Amino acid sequence: MQAQDLPTPVNRISCPKCGNDEEFIEIAENVILTTLYTQNQDGSFTPEEDDSQVLGALKLICAHCEADLSHFHSRFAEMLF
Ligand SMILES: [Zn+2]
Repeated sequence: MQAQDLPTPVNRISCPKCGNDEEFIEIAENVILTTLYTQNQDGSFTPEEDDSQVLGALKLICAHCEADLSHFHSRFAEMLF
């Protein structure tokens, strides 16, 4: 049985350069991270709330060969659970 005979869901992303379909890296540019802390009696801090805001573009790259797969990003975002 050849690999291409196996049923493949049509919406699986794979790297056109190296064929990787398992590991991808998302890169966010220009991110503002805001974290609310409360100070405890002993002077230590506990984070209460995290708020991140992405101002720049979100990129998707192949984790194996670092090919730019950003044109797959909207599909990637839809399949993020
Ligand atoms: Zn690749």
